[in-house]
Amino acid sequence: MRALWIILIFSTSLFAKLQIAVAYPYIEQLTKEIAKDKAEITLLSQGNWDPHFVVPKPSLISGLRDSDLLILNGASLEIGWLPPLIQRANNPRIQTEAKGYLDLSKYVELKDIPTHIDSSMGHVHKEGNPHFILDPHNIITLAEVIMIKLSVLDKENYPFYKKNFEVFKTRWTKKLKIYDAKMKQCEGMKVVQYHELFNYFLYRYKIKSLDNLEPLPGVKPNSKHTMDLINKIRQNNVKLILQDVYHEDITASFIASKSGAKVVKLPHDVGALKGTQTLEKFYDTLVGRICN
Ligand SMILES: [Zn+2]
Repeated sequence: MRALWIILIFSTSLFAKLQIAVAYPYIEQLTKEIAKDKAEITLLSQGNWDPHFVVPKPSLISGLRDSDLLILNGASLEIGWLPPLIQRANNPRIQTEAKGYLDLSKYVELKDIPTHIDSSMGHVHKEGNPHFILDPHNIITLAEVIMIKLSVLDKENYPFYKKNFEVFKTRWTKKLKIYDAKMKQCEGMKVVQYHELFNYFLYRYKIKSLDNLEPLPGVKPNSKHTMDLINKIRQNNVKLILQDVYHEDITASFIASKSGAKVVKLPHDVGALKGTQTLEKFYDTLVGRICN
């Protein structure tokens, strides 16, 4: 009889775990901060992948099929890969209008919203720049949004989630003070980047991004644009070329060799580079490499 009770209690507690699918590693980290051991998380991508083009493998469908909650970046960052997976998973709990669908982009102020769009503009992000995770000041808001959603789906554990959020908020507030003080030293610095991936970080810390290596969003560099860039970098005393981990870096090296600017490889998400496996280490790396 006693053994039966143990089995029952054990299986109930297993069942109680929320099943959560998350689009990107930073969301996994934030969710872990709030949920701790009360959730099982399926991560749909890797930090060193191009977030616009995750390979929609069929194995990801089973993770979505069993989920009580799907948390995505939104602002169309997943438009090229996630919608067909959601459709094929056929799980009513995580459809767009369902309670278990959380689009983080709805809770931050999006920047770079285009005033008009036409075919000459490349693959422009029409709802605004979706790479808002690059601003460390967005993190507390996102953690709170996740805390509230977890509490809606699992009311019983609201005090637990709330406490974890408060602890995280205190820790993060201290981190922000350190980042802000350090970055103050680099205000006004000029950079170029491959894609407008780092804009939220650059806006936050008043660093000027003069141009991009891609002539248009999603369009590969060409020689005319590259030569123009070299001139622009020389004339404007641009210090850094911000290179992400998933685009080719030959163009950046070439521009550096002709212009004197330095190439710096940056993570765009948790785990994109070695040594960036936590939220802290991710932003520590960004701050340390851009402003040293
Ligand atoms: Zn983008």
